[in-house]
Amino acid sequence: MSKRPKEEYEGAKLREKIKDYFEMVEPKNKDFIKVITDKCGGCRICYEQCPGGCFEMENDKAVFKYPNFCFECGACFNICPSDAISWDYPEGGTGLVMRWS
Ligand code: SF4
Ligand code: SF4
Repeated sequence: MSKRPKEEYEGAKLREKIKDYFEMVEPKNKDFIKVITDKCGGCRICYEQCPGGCFEMENDKAVFKYPNFCFECGACFNICPSDAISWDYPEGGTGLVMRWS
């Protein structure tokens, strides 16, 4: 797994692009996705592969930092090799909401 420098991190770029097309509505249950820090091996897969750029790496651990950008795709939960991510939906009508006008 390549370790891309932050300036090449596609998820962060994507956050900028999708702002024009989506409303980012902050859910009350901001921790609907949780990283179980003790289990996180710091592999960066979630950080590099999340399509919404929702994760940051801090002290070699993943942090779910941008819940407003979550597509609810479930990829992070499914790809984490350490089973360190617990996943749920944000409350209805929050997270990324498509703009129709
Ligand atoms: S994929 Fe799992 S083990 Fe790897 S950084 Fe993310 S939470 Fe940690
Ligand atoms: S569910 Fe998808 S969009 Fe949401 S944090 Fe996980 S990988 Fe990112």
